[in-house]
Amino acid sequence: MALQACYLAPVFELDAELWAVFSTSKTAYAFVAVLGALWGSFGNVCIYRMPPSEEFPKGRSVVAPGSHCFACGANVRWYDNVPLLSFLWLRGSCRDCKASFSPRYLLVEGAAAMLFVAAYHYIVAIAFTASSPEEQLLRFAVLATFFWLLLIITFIDFDHQLILDKLTYPFIPIFYALGLLLPNSSPTAGLVGIAVGYGVVRVISDGYWLLTHREGMGYGDGKLLAIIGALYGWQAVLVSLFLGSILGALISIVLLLLRRENSTSDSENGKPDLGRVAVPFGPFLALGAIIYVFAESELRLVLAPLW
Ligand SMILES: [Zn+2]
Repeated sequence: MALQACYLAPVFELDAELWAVFSTSKTAYAFVAVLGALWGSFGNVCIYRMPPSEEFPKGRSVVAPGSHCFACGANVRWYDNVPLLSFLWLRGSCRDCKASFSPRYLLVEGAAAMLFVAAYHYIVAIAFTASSPEEQLLRFAVLATFFWLLLIITFIDFDHQLILDKLTYPFIPIFYALGLLLPNSSPTAGLVGIAVGYGVVRVISDGYWLLTHREGMGYGDGKLLAIIGALYGWQAVLVSLFLGSILGALISIVLLLLRRENSTSDSENGKPDLGRVAVPFGPFLALGAIIYVFAESELRLVLAPLW
């Protein structure tokens, strides 16, 4: 009965009954995981090619040329370009010259697959179970894109201590527009979110500079927070900033302690080098935003005055 209804319905209108069964099936989750791994694979390309280098001050194209070995230049064959799996069957090395590839490729693909599955599960099985199939799919598409972008920004920031304008600027209006497509959205919330996200970092960063004449937060962090605010409003900005600061501080303390341990055992004059550690802030803001997304309804209860 449900099958027939689905067959007769126009393609863009999903049968709710059938969708309810299919959307939580193992097949659907497996499909989402594969989708995530494929986007993770493209994410790797962006992470390695977009940042500026000496040879390419503006970064390289993410489309052309195709994937190739960085050591011997051989093109990666299409059957060796399967996310996650080809890394395993090639044992992480080039088929031609046997140069080994960084396990980071595997990590990024796996992380993207997990984030896609988490986003999907949250939407179809936890937070929006009562929503229409179309709304669930729209929400998943927006959230998966958001997580994908956070993943790329995170790894580029780890590598280069840079949050690229060419990644943040286009996605501020894109996520503002996508936010408007979602039910119960307000046109002002995203605009306020953008202003607060960018503004709060300008205030902190410029204030820190005036007081210490040292670079603290970069404006790139503000543009990242503007993206978060464009989609989720100023509340998400503050929560991400708060969680990001705590997580970042904890990691910095651990790194400082590790460094002190190393330098006391290594240094000859016995004077530990207790300088500052440069920890990129973007990854922690991204992590804060991901936590925000999954905890939004609880946060609304706990921090009710904010809404
Ligand atoms: Zn090679």
